[in-house]
Parts: sequence; C-alpha cells; structure tokens
Amino acid sequence: MTHSVNGATRKFAIVGAGPAGFYTAEALTTACPDCEIDLIDRLPTPYGLVRSGVAPDHQATKKIQETFDGIAALPNVRFIGNVEIGRDVSLVELREIYDAVVLASGAPYDVALDIPGAELPGVYGAAAFVGWYNAHPEHAGLNPQLDQAGAVVIGNGNVAIDIARILSRPPADLATSDIADYALQQLRNSQIADVHIVGRRGALDAKFTTVELRELGELHDVVALAEPAQIPAALDDNLPPRERRLKAKNLECFQAFAKEDATSRPRRIRFQFNARPIRVLGETRVEAIRFERTQVDNGRVVGSGETFDVPCGLIVAAIGYQARPIGDLAVAAAGNRLENVDGLVAPGLYVVGWLKRGPSGKIGTNRLDGEEVAERIRAETGIGGKPGFQALQQILDRQQVQWTDFADWKKIEHAETIAASDGAPRRKFFAIPEMLKHRVKPDGHPPEP
Ligand code: NAP
Repeated sequence: MTHSVNGATRKFAIVGAGPAGFYTAEALTTACPDCEIDLIDRLPTPYGLVRSGVAPDHQATKKIQETFDGIAALPNVRFIGNVEIGRDVSLVELREIYDAVVLASGAPYDVALDIPGAELPGVYGAAAFVGWYNAHPEHAGLNPQLDQAGAVVIGNGNVAIDIARILSRPPADLATSDIADYALQQLRNSQIADVHIVGRRGALDAKFTTVELRELGELHDVVALAEPAQIPAALDDNLPPRERRLKAKNLECFQAFAKEDATSRPRRIRFQFNARPIRVLGETRVEAIRFERTQVDNGRVVGSGETFDVPCGLIVAAIGYQARPIGDLAVAAAGNRLENVDGLVAPGLYVVGWLKRGPSGKIGTNRLDGEEVAERIRAETGIGGKPGFQALQQILDRQQVQWTDFADWKKIEHAETIAASDGAPRRKFFAIPEMLKHRVKPDGHPPEP
C-alpha cells in the first residue's frame, strides 16, 4: 500500500468487484495516486458478472479477468471478498471510515414476470437461471427440470440468446467451458428439443446484437428458425444511418433463419415476435404459456386480443434486471438503478455501472463510468485522513468475518483449475464454505479444517 508524503492518504471503498468496480479502482489510482482503495465483494471471488453472468461458452469474453488481475495487483488496490454490506458492515459505518464510497454492486435481481401462473414451479428469472449454470452460490440449488421437450425464453435481449444457446447446444460443446458441473450433468440428461425465444415487439425492434444472432446460425446440431411472415423484406427508409446498418445485419440473420428447415437438425431455437405473455398454464408445474399477439403503435406494445399457447416445461423470463434499495437510498422509478446525479448519490457516496445507469451496455462501458466518477472524487474529496481498511478490519474481526484477499482468490482459482476435467478451464466451486477452505489466514497458515 502507498502512503502520501504527509501521511494523509485518501481511503476509498468500492462495493462490488465486478467490471464497474475494477474499472473504478483503476481510474481512481490514476486520478488520485495517493489513495488506498478497498474493493469489497459479498462473494469470496472477484469479477462479478464476468464470472457469474457471461455465458460459460464465451471464454474469450472472460479473458478480461486478466486485465482485472492487473488492477488487483496495483500497490494501492486491495480486494476484500466475502463481506456483505448490510450484513457484515453497514453502509453508514463504511461512509464513516472511508473518505469516499463507490457503489458498484449492479442490478443482480430479476424483474418479475407479472402474469397469472408465474409462481408455478418451472418458471425462472434470467438472473437465477444464468446464476445456476454459472455456479453462483445463491442460485446453485435452482435444479430446473429439463425433462420436457419445450422451453420458452421471454425477452429479446442478449441474455435471452445466451440462455437459449446454453439450453440448445450439444452438451459436449459445453464440456470445454467453465459451466457448473451439476448444470452440465443436467443438460446432458435434458429432453429439451425446442427453445422458443419470444419478444413482445417485432424482429427489427429486438435488442440482440448481430454477433450473438450469427452465432446461433453456426451451432452444430441446432437450427435457428424464424417465421417467414414475421420477418420484413426490407428496412424502413427513414432510419438514421447507424441504426440502419445495425438493423440490416440483424435482418440478414432473421431472413436466413426464415429459410431454414426445422427438420434439418435435432434441436431448434424458434424466434417468435409480436407476442406478449399473458398467463402461465399448468396444474402443479408449468405446462404451457399463453401469449397475446401484439403490434407496436407509436412505440407502445398493443395487444390484439388474439392468443395462442406454447406447450413447455420450462420458462425463463429474460426481461431485465433490477436493483434493490441499499439502506435508505432511493431506487429510480424504473427499479433498475439508484437515484443519482452523474454518479453522485450523496456527499461522499457515488455509484457506477448498472447500479448507476441501469442494466445496459457492454463490459467496456463501465470503464467510462469509472473514469468519470474518479474525476469527481478527485475534485470533491478533501485531503483524506479517515482510517479506511484499519477500521474495517476491526469491524470484520469483531464480527468474525472470514474475508478473502486476492491471494486467497488465487488459491481458490488454483484449486478450481486443478479440479477441472479435460479441456475445461476450471471446475467452479459453488459453495462458499468450499471456497473458504482455500483461504489463508492473515498469519499465513491455512484455516483449521
Ligand atoms: P435487454 O437487452 O434490455 O432486453 C430485455 C428484453 O426484455 C427486451 O426485449 C424487452 O422488451 C423485454 N421485456 C421487458 N419486460 C417485458 C415484459 N414484461 N414482457 C415481455 N418482454 C419484456 O436486457 P438483457 O437481455 O437482460 O441484457 C442486459 C444487458 O446485458 C444488455 O445491455 C445486453 O446487451 C447485455 N448483455 C450482453 C451480452 C453479450 O454481449 N454477449 C450477453 C448478455 C447480456 P422491450 O424492448 O419491449 O422493452
């Protein structure tokens, strides 16, 4: 750790060690070279959605971890895992002991599918489902039943595509990923042959990016299908040039999907547009879902009254993520971010990432957030003088919290790597006690078994 010449080092805490937290830490070390930064996460492991959100078959995207490792290795950055704000230390305490606190804890909860029958077993939110196949400790016990031929994914964003792809692609393709081993086992026994991705707007309104759509067309043993009548022949002439370019590429994909033969491969991903869910059907678990046909009128989705049912044993609602209130901080009306003004929540309290602007953008979008907030903090915090880590450690000791540092994480990672089966990068631990077994106590000795 660095210390400034006059001893008044500014102490900053960042809550959440995902992309937004890491980029903010990096930006703060540049904006305030005299500072010490504690990057706190509720899990013993770092990287946030890069570990538990990015699809396991997108290992190239996960390489960003190497950049984050470089940030964690900076002399004035300290990772503190397995510490939950509100459980182990309060936000009030944190603000008292640090010169500034940055909230970077994302929007990790599902928007609820608010229709009759959504409480039936077999209906899940995307955060839970993605967390399940990614070995997130909170969702590892989800145990979805994959014993029916049909699955429905609601929503037309990239999360819906990730889920449809993981449910459809041959499990052998996933064996070389870092998917949770219990999830791979369940997918090996899966009966799912048709995954329907259903959007309430038209094909050209979908939020999919072209790279993700194209990938669906390249999977082996899986055919992506669209209904020819739902795919426009051409784009609207009045579109601005950039939007036109992007939509043209998506349209090309959908037009190709509309020409595919449903019998050509054993599993199908079926796009269905202009349909909104209105009721989940089933006695003791989901058996089907009812949709109403829609049209888009001046940007609004309007129901036509015409309905149809899709038989299915599994429904995943990929309809967006939400933030939860932290202490008495206000959540914006949309429910997916904290109220803030350009990253400022209250004096000395800042927010970045999805918790600042809602769940949108790519991993790299968080870099800009971090730079902007670091500049604000540089200008708005005084010369420092608060105790920072020293005081936090006292609180954690008092609470007997088994917190992890980055060296502990590297031990966990090493154990995951050597436990991996052939070709897989790691076998992810999903139980926190299993992770903590690899923790080294501050005196350098492993903890008692
Ligand atoms: P998203 O892109 O905002 O998509 C949410 C979808 O849910 C939209 O189609 C939305 O329709 C629909 N929806 C919302 N409420 C609904 C309701 N009540 N009934 C039916 N449909 C409803 O969100 P996301 O897919 O969760 O993705 C979040 C962010 O992560 C995005 O920025 C995404 O690009 C990013 N991401 C990227 C990747 C990647 O690059 N590979 C992978 C995963 C996620 P409307 O448009 O009508 O509101």
